[in-house]
Amino acid sequence: LISIKHLKKCFAEQTVLNDINLHIGKGKIYGLVGRSGAGKSTLLRCINGLESYDEGSLTVDSIEVSSLSAKAAREFKKDIGMIFQQFSLLSRLNVYENIALPMKCWNYNQTHIDRKVKELVEVVGIHDKIHAFPAQLSGGQKQRVAIARALAMNPRILLCDEATSALDPQTANSIISLLDTINKQMGITIVVVTHQMSVLRRSCEDISILENGKIAESGSVVEIFLRQPKALINLIGRKDQ
Ligand code: ATP
Ligand code: MG
Repeated sequence: LISIKHLKKCFAEQTVLNDINLHIGKGKIYGLVGRSGAGKSTLLRCINGLESYDEGSLTVDSIEVSSLSAKAAREFKKDIGMIFQQFSLLSRLNVYENIALPMKCWNYNQTHIDRKVKELVEVVGIHDKIHAFPAQLSGGQKQRVAIARALAMNPRILLCDEATSALDPQTANSIISLLDTINKQMGITIVVVTHQMSVLRRSCEDISILENGKIAESGSVVEIFLRQPKALINLIGRKDQ
């Protein structure tokens, strides 16, 4: 589904991504790990078309992302949901309005919006909080709202940038379970950036380790554990088991 070849990305003088090659199959949960500053968030932003790249190729369903016209790029971004560590909800909007926001931006009609929001609050398990404001929600509930909002436009791909890092282990686990369900039941391909071993172990089949903008290791979780246990252990949480 996502194919990246010799991707290079620079910010001024600094090369942030260098010769990135990876393939993410449809329906997978793919893990990206690496130290702070390795380029993980930048890579996610390239995948969803928020960041341009300088060299190489990045295709989604064989379509080169950098070649899209402005209009096509807008359609393309609609197809990719994203969630973050800090949830990024709008504090002045309630749960319903936060989830409805992307559909409002795309001028969907109220009947559709209403039906979709009600469906999504059931999917993520926050139907009893539909009128609450973000400040009245726990971290886990906020991330559920963010997930519902990311699903509002029926994306094919969901990008998760340390989506469970701000949560306690138990809550993080419940969010991972939810992402697993979304992946299996809706067939959405998920890319997770994480520092948490439990996330990799539970959900990801294949992972890549990014180091200074390069892919240091790529393969199945099991394979990398066997080949490079130290590399992984150095990179990810100690207390998180
Ligand atoms: P973290 O784990 O801390 O989130 P990361 O792996 O996500 O780190 P990135 O955010 O992708 O790392 O950043 C990679 C490098 O690119 C860093 O050195 C950062 O300073 C630089 N960088 C990121 N965004 C920009 C930008 N908009 N302008 C200039 N430099 C940037
Ligand atoms: Mg980051």
